[in-house]
Amino acid sequence: MKTKIGVMLDMMEKQIEKCPWAKKQSVRTQVEEICNEAKEVVEAVEKGDKENLTEEIGDLLWDAIMVAKISERDHGIDLKAAAQNIIEKMERRKPWVYGDEVITDIEETIRRWNEIKAMEKQKKVGEKNG
Ligand code: MG
Repeated sequence: MKTKIGVMLDMMEKQIEKCPWAKKQSVRTQVEEICNEAKEVVEAVEKGDKENLTEEIGDLLWDAIMVAKISERDHGIDLKAAAQNIIEKMERRKPWVYGDEVITDIEETIRRWNEIKAMEKQKKVGEKNG
């Protein structure tokens, strides 16, 4: 059985193929939509309206999936690779969650995240320079 996200991905593929409006959308137009939906999420939180928040989270997720699918179509992005990428990044950058490190202080989580991020950047530069 498909997850709800899997159903949304299939629906989005169909929409981009069959809907004249959706066919014309780009990453740029859809990122604007994401910004609008993100604002609506904040408004729903501020109103304390759980029903509206549920709706707006769905809208935001839908638009994020649309950007992903348009990126596949227009820019050759492999969505599975993108998902794998963020999974690995979170595992690397939050070893206190997904590994053996013990950190309970918020400031320390931020410091450690930035430290790992800087080490990754340095490693990338090193790899580029030979
Ligand atoms: Mg909305």
